[in-house]
Amino acid sequence: MDTAPDVVVIGAGFAGLYAVHRLRGLGLRVQGLEAADGVGGTWHHNRYPGARCDSESYYYCYSFSPELEQEWHWSERYPGQTEILSYLDHVADRFDLRRDFSFSTRVVAAHRDEDADRWVVETDRGRWTCRWLVTAVGCLSSANVPDIPGLESFAGRWHHTGQWPHEGVDVAGRRVGVVGTGSTGIQAIPVLAESAGHLTVFQRTANFSIPARNAPLTSEEAAGYKADYTAIRELQQGSTNGHPFVVSDVDVLALPDGERRDLFERAWDRGGLRFRAAVRDVLTDTEVNDAASDFIRTKIHETVHDAAVAEALSPRDHPFATKRPPIDTDYFATYNRPNVSLVDVRADPIAEITPDGVRLASGARHPLDVLVFATGFDALSGPLLRLGLRGSDGRSLADAWAEGATTYLGLGVAGFPNLFTITGPGSPSVLTNMPTSIEQHVDWIADLLAHLRDHDLDAEPTREAQARWAEHVREAADATLLPRASSSWYLGANVPGKPRVFLPYAGGFARYREICDAEAAAGYPGFAPRSRRRRASA
Ligand code: NAP
Repeated sequence: MDTAPDVVVIGAGFAGLYAVHRLRGLGLRVQGLEAADGVGGTWHHNRYPGARCDSESYYYCYSFSPELEQEWHWSERYPGQTEILSYLDHVADRFDLRRDFSFSTRVVAAHRDEDADRWVVETDRGRWTCRWLVTAVGCLSSANVPDIPGLESFAGRWHHTGQWPHEGVDVAGRRVGVVGTGSTGIQAIPVLAESAGHLTVFQRTANFSIPARNAPLTSEEAAGYKADYTAIRELQQGSTNGHPFVVSDVDVLALPDGERRDLFERAWDRGGLRFRAAVRDVLTDTEVNDAASDFIRTKIHETVHDAAVAEALSPRDHPFATKRPPIDTDYFATYNRPNVSLVDVRADPIAEITPDGVRLASGARHPLDVLVFATGFDALSGPLLRLGLRGSDGRSLADAWAEGATTYLGLGVAGFPNLFTITGPGSPSVLTNMPTSIEQHVDWIADLLAHLRDHDLDAEPTREAQARWAEHVREAADATLLPRASSSWYLGANVPGKPRVFLPYAGGFARYREICDAEAAAGYPGFAPRSRRRRASA
């Protein structure tokens, strides 16, 4: 097969669907490629028990269509995996997006053909060539399964949460082990505990978690959000992280003890990511963060009956929210169940997987029927690296990123002309509400492609612009407490051998948008647009 779209978009999640819609609207011929057999991206693959979004439903959705906003009905404060997947299926149908996608089509490599000034995209179902290549492969789509000796010998079933079987996994009455207590493990553990015979949680790092306070959305609440969408979207656009919350202006350190405790209690009752919005400066002021961290540790001790287990669950090695803060439903209380036990694998690491379970370094054995890896992802750079991209002069992306992933604005890479990366490393992406960032990135890329088409230009980031942006991304992270979580996936520290570079842009969504707008208004100098014809004759 050799067809010639103007643009190939890789991925059919939130980003790929909107990119196809938006770019098609410019009159471009667009071809979407998706490895899975349907739309959904993250929400197609993450079907583990308890999978639910941490952003609230009324704003974890597209804003580009007011009609869509009004006609779709969310049933709960936080949308579950099946509901988000239904939403994306609805979007694909409503905007007739499927006709431009080839599903069950995995990109195995892509390279620049400089003579033809095109990208050549190789898949397991044929080859496409295109002028522009747009990646919409997500930030958290490359599963990180730890390399533990003996895994292949395990006689039970094991699964990574991000590759959960569509038919589900029967854990009823079984001995289930979960490795990992990040956002995913913290969602899955309470649900697995309800049906497992025994659940063993292998914890390496204790985590701060805030109660989600999920509940059905009442019809009054839903109607209120629908009536308020203009104001909600404005708040998101002016925010640090794409959530429509007004951040408190109260200085918690100036409050007497009792009032401070009341403030934290009210924030705890509000639940979810609103907790953070109630505590000003929590990511920039160590003392404020200590106060919030102490409060959460106290809550853990109040909830968990066994004091030793409560202490093992209390984070002491990183400030609150410097690792992505999970939100939960009954996570800490789950450890009061008689069928749940906590194993500290920092103190006694997993030595090997045996046919019948897990053996720790001390020799202790935990027999298991099902083993769940909630061990996260090779974040941001991983999904791009596995596309096998080669830019000018045949240089691979892996080679270009040997010292760490760098981009310009998270949207392009020097040496890779006419490649555009939605939510790439260096974008605010995972530090924000994803649909908000995705729409901004796609709109910006669409404007750039229209400019390139109208003026017959190519574009790629200059090395200077990329180096300046890398420095700014580092400074933005250093202005916060985020780098203090030295084992965080934000830094690439969760994947052995991955270079340590702070990956997302921590300078805030609104500031990032202004920087992107200024770049566009100035004629995209960091992308150095150049004439296609002159280039061909040169
Ligand atoms: P994660 O945050 O990277 O957590 C992975 C967990 O596995 C950590 O507790 C980690 O311990 C542990 N781990 C990794 N390798 C291990 C090993 N070899 N032995 C023992 N423990 C090991 O991954 P995640 O929980 O999947 O979450 C990733 C991101 O996805 C989240 O931060 C969030 O952005 C997103 N997410 C969102 C939602 C939502 O919106 N509801 C839900 C789930 C995920 P260490 O901390 O010691 O490395």
